[in-house]
Amino acid sequence: MDPASYGGCFKNTEVMLNDDCQDPKGAVVEAVVDELLEEVGRTYKDNGKIPDEVLSALNNVFQSSLLPALELVDSHNVTKVTCPAGRALYQVIGSSGTPYTCFLSSRYCSCPSYQFSCLKKGDHLMCKHVLAVRLCEAMGGVRELDVTNQEITNMLKQLE
Ligand SMILES: [Zn+2]
Repeated sequence: MDPASYGGCFKNTEVMLNDDCQDPKGAVVEAVVDELLEEVGRTYKDNGKIPDEVLSALNNVFQSSLLPALELVDSHNVTKVTCPAGRALYQVIGSSGTPYTCFLSSRYCSCPSYQFSCLKKGDHLMCKHVLAVRLCEAMGGVRELDVTNQEITNMLKQLE
């Protein structure tokens, strides 16, 4: 894809995000994010780095969440936890050392920022931990941990 077209995507996104946030979780933003993460996956696997134009487009969507999320990926803080029954969740060790639980499908995270910025205010598409999971999945650096069905059930219970 022509890198210049990201500029166009990003401009639309910025308008949407700044335009009083009518629908920050809208389909357009989500499609742009999906596209950018796909591009991250393609280019990272080929070159071992994310091209500047993709980084700056991501930065414009995620702003202050992007760098902390990339740091979490770099420090291998993202783990995918799976069990024989096929359930899966992600654990992300936050910058302060606190472990958070994330689900990709719902973009849920157990951190305070998810509760505040994503649910209450609705001005963030996802918190930095879920962003780190998505980047890590795209870049192919997720550590995997197999646990028993009971262990994953216990982890889920802790979230209630
Ligand atoms: Zn979070």
